[in-house]
Amino acid sequence: MELAINPSKIISPLCYSVLRLEPYTNCAYSCLYCYARWYRSGRIKPRARAIGMFAKVAKKLDLRIPFRLSTLSDPLQDIEENAKVSYKLMKIAMDNEIPIILSTKSDRIAKNPWKSLIEEMAKDGLIVVQVSVSSLDRNELEPKAPHPQNRIKALESIDAPKVLRLQPLIPNYSFENAEEFVERVKDVADQITTEPLRIERGEIEFYGKFWSRWSNYSFEGELLKADCYEILEELSVACKRYGLDFGLCKEGYFHLETANCCGLHMIECELRPTLREVYKILLEKREIGLDELKFEGYLFVDVLSKLPRAIRKALRFHEKLFLKCLKDNSCLSHLTPLIRFEDGKLKLINLDRNHPSKP
Ligand code: SF4
Repeated sequence: MELAINPSKIISPLCYSVLRLEPYTNCAYSCLYCYARWYRSGRIKPRARAIGMFAKVAKKLDLRIPFRLSTLSDPLQDIEENAKVSYKLMKIAMDNEIPIILSTKSDRIAKNPWKSLIEEMAKDGLIVVQVSVSSLDRNELEPKAPHPQNRIKALESIDAPKVLRLQPLIPNYSFENAEEFVERVKDVADQITTEPLRIERGEIEFYGKFWSRWSNYSFEGELLKADCYEILEELSVACKRYGLDFGLCKEGYFHLETANCCGLHMIECELRPTLREVYKILLEKREIGLDELKFEGYLFVDVLSKLPRAIRKALRFHEKLFLKCLKDNSCLSHLTPLIRFEDGKLKLINLDRNHPSKP
């Protein structure tokens, strides 16, 4: 699926931004921890056909459905200076009123023509800018990307809805103290969204110098994630204290979040439902039958039939897998400690405060 992330038992129940634009074939920043390296290879080249393909779909799309720019490479890495594939994709999005989640480690956001386009799109509520860092000071795991302080300065200088992604969060590398981290960036962004480090099993030794507690990320067990609930809780509390929104990417700890993880609440757009919406319903009702779930106002069931074929097909695949996970307790318990499917109903689970990852 050219314009969508492949459905999976992790992405389909948890992710709002499953539509994507991929301007380049690879990434020059070569971050050591990069998850995208599992899905790409070869030389860095512009993917010019992404422009024609997106232009065609954009013309037919009447709803403001967000696209992520991008997921397999940095959209504003150095090749963008001349190739400008990302700029052209953003221009198509603006002309057709399609919201973009711009996700980058580049300080090119503070340079024209990108800066002025970002700020023009922001005036129409068509962009959320996400800049990611794994630390504010250290860059040994991402030596080819702009220094994190340059990214922070660039983010600070633009006028748009802004998310600072602490991604990956590497305990004992990203910061020494969560509160101090949030205090240092409180005026830079509207929100912090974080995702603890994911690694392959064979990388435990390398990352073991930072952290020793890991749990399964993939269902098959070959990918692990840093198990650091207490740090996520500290970040959530600190964000509240400093007036920042807080989101988590695919962690399932919805009770720690105060905002849409992608920052999409800051712009006007249509969302697909995820487990977060189920959690919000359960906060009111405690339990609900699957056939009672309507997700009114979301991209769900009938609303999808009005969409262009490529988009409809992709969103239907994700919806099908999301609904399948809702009635599969082993899938649910892998994704969140907060929701279970029992006796034909979805139920809210109270957390054990001493072992928050277990109900
Ligand atoms: S900038 Fe992003 S896509 Fe590029 S190598 Fe780093 S983590 Fe991967």
